[in-house]
Amino acid sequence: MSIQFPIYSDEYWLHYALQLAERAYQQGEVPVGAVLVRDNQILGEGWNQSISQHDATAHAEIMALRAAGLAAGNYRLPHTSLYVTLEPCVMCAGALLHARVERVVFGAYDLKTGAAGSVFDVLLDIRHNHQVQLTGGVLQADCITQLQAFFKERRLAQKLDKLNSTTTSSPTSTEN
Ligand SMILES: [Zn+2]
Repeated sequence: MSIQFPIYSDEYWLHYALQLAERAYQQGEVPVGAVLVRDNQILGEGWNQSISQHDATAHAEIMALRAAGLAAGNYRLPHTSLYVTLEPCVMCAGALLHARVERVVFGAYDLKTGAAGSVFDVLLDIRHNHQVQLTGGVLQADCITQLQAFFKERRLAQKLDKLNSTTTSSPTSTEN
């Protein structure tokens, strides 16, 4: 990877997560990537695969937690930091608490479903017996750009699909 950020900085790991998100993008999935780090080493990584896996829980954070749990031989993952390109949803925030992840750093805020403060405040709710350190908005512009590019492309594809289906199946259309 290109070294444009200080090694092991938040930006460095977010940049890494962006590359994971790119894999989701290439697979037609909403581009979200996540990497779980302990002592500056990758313990697990993942990207959104809900569509291809037919699995509503296959978000990037969950995939990273699963991989890290296997690598560590433990579902508790203390002293770890999770870097993810989009603010976690309620499900992922809950999983991060169960795993005892120490710190969460995310890129883009999700103003519709974000559970790290934007809509819900799951990660910092003092009623849980574990709270995380939270940093949002790291490499935010890059993360937003990637998501917007994906949705723009998808909308365009849907428009083209619609256009094609109306021109090929319209009963009033004159063939030849
Ligand atoms: Zn999620």
